[in-house]
Amino acid sequence: MTDLLTRDEWLRRAAVPVARTRLWIDGDFVDAASGKTFECVGPRDGATFARVAEGDAADVDRAVAAARRSFEAGVWREAAPAHRKAVMLRWAQLIREHAHELALLETLNVGKPISDSVKVDVEYAATNVQWYAETIDKMYGEVAPVPRDSLTIVEREPLGVVGAVVPWNYPLIISSWKVGAALAAGNSVVLKPAEQSPLSALLFAELATRAGLPDGCFNVVTGFGPTAGAALGRHADVDKLAFTGSTEVGKYFLRYAAESNGKPVSLELGGKTPHVVLRDCPDLDAAASAIAWGVFYNSGQTCHAGTRLVVDRTIEDELLERISGVAAGLQPGDPLEPTTTMGTIVDRVQLERVLGYIESGRAEGADVHLGGRQAHPVQGGCYVEPTVFRNVRPGMRIEREEIFGPVLASVAVDDVDAAVRIANDTPYGLGAAVWTRDLSRAHKVARALRAGTVWVNTFDRSSIVTPFGGFKQSGTGRDRSMHSIEGYTNLKTTWIQL
Ligand code: ADP
Repeated sequence: MTDLLTRDEWLRRAAVPVARTRLWIDGDFVDAASGKTFECVGPRDGATFARVAEGDAADVDRAVAAARRSFEAGVWREAAPAHRKAVMLRWAQLIREHAHELALLETLNVGKPISDSVKVDVEYAATNVQWYAETIDKMYGEVAPVPRDSLTIVEREPLGVVGAVVPWNYPLIISSWKVGAALAAGNSVVLKPAEQSPLSALLFAELATRAGLPDGCFNVVTGFGPTAGAALGRHADVDKLAFTGSTEVGKYFLRYAAESNGKPVSLELGGKTPHVVLRDCPDLDAAASAIAWGVFYNSGQTCHAGTRLVVDRTIEDELLERISGVAAGLQPGDPLEPTTTMGTIVDRVQLERVLGYIESGRAEGADVHLGGRQAHPVQGGCYVEPTVFRNVRPGMRIEREEIFGPVLASVAVDDVDAAVRIANDTPYGLGAAVWTRDLSRAHKVARALRAGTVWVNTFDRSSIVTPFGGFKQSGTGRDRSMHSIEGYTNLKTTWIQL
């Protein structure tokens, strides 16, 4: 199913009106209560290609009520684990069977290269759902070592209704982490996709129902953050919030929880990932390739993108040259052309923001080593060249703030201590990398780096089996792995007198 079509065929399919544009509540497509819709403007060429239901508080109420009904009725959480596993495995299969449809929606919404949408976004979403399905009949409780006159059983129970709010950079993958874990644990879910990328979630949810997920267990409310997102955050009948997005909005979710029912909140937020490249980097070509792909992939719109290079001064020139060499093969192109490796920035607002950061780098005295301009492979679209700044000083905005664009800032250092200090001097702590051939130094630096994931002599390797999340203001809680399921459950102790 995942072999690629030609550009002409993708263009033909892109011209067909989008089939699913309404809210998905209680196993059905419905209009927003207000009747309102909003435009989907494609970043590929700036044209409006669909209108989508604009859900708000009234629709969130409906979706939460449906989720609550399904949860209380026990249609999902009380079903046999083997049955729930079979349903989720069927869902993963349906995702694969609809790979082209899902991928096209992702590319039209956010401008990802179509081959990435097919081979990475949709494929990972299916893999993630499949992996969570497999956990369902492998979760055991515990018997605690209490005095022999008693038996205590410690079990994990679902929390109830989960509200998930996700961003636009990896709409399907991030949704599959949260919805997959929440459903595997027996919860019911209301998902609010980002307003820039509402479409794939609607088909994703419909396929779950077609796989046998009971109505109401997974609902999707499309709409804007301050209305639909805030209503979900503040809802008193939501038992947990799972959020991925900016640190600023993540803090709103803590407030929403505090001002409503004190529900738990998991947050996966921003990042400013450093690559610490030491003098004894074992393979400069491998480092250059990993660094370039790690910051330019998805046009830099990745929370853990490696946006800061903290490099030993003696190898900076050579490393930057090699990074430029890799970047030459990573230029923005038409996202619907299957050979394109770099697509668009998500929308015009974000495009202006990225260009503004590039301007600030120049104004603060950093040098543009590569790129630095808007590109125009398709007229009217939102494209930026892979950009590298050198002579960056710690504290410059391009070194400090999350840009969410294809911009690398290189800071030269003279020793390991300075490298670690600068790498850690950020409010964020999502990822970090160190490049060295000295095993002991690698371990010491990896320990010293304050981040949820540290890569050694590699970058951006990830898997559903490893936890993903941040230290410091990059968030709290984890997506992926069995640890993520803990975040969607409560521990219950049953104490029995014998
Ligand atoms: P990004 O910077 O990646 O666009 P945001 O944090 O702005 O990330 O958005 C991530 C998600 O949070 C989106 O689904 C968006 O609609 C939602 N969101 C944005 N603002 C708010 C808000 N004030 N309250 C609730 N949700 C919000």
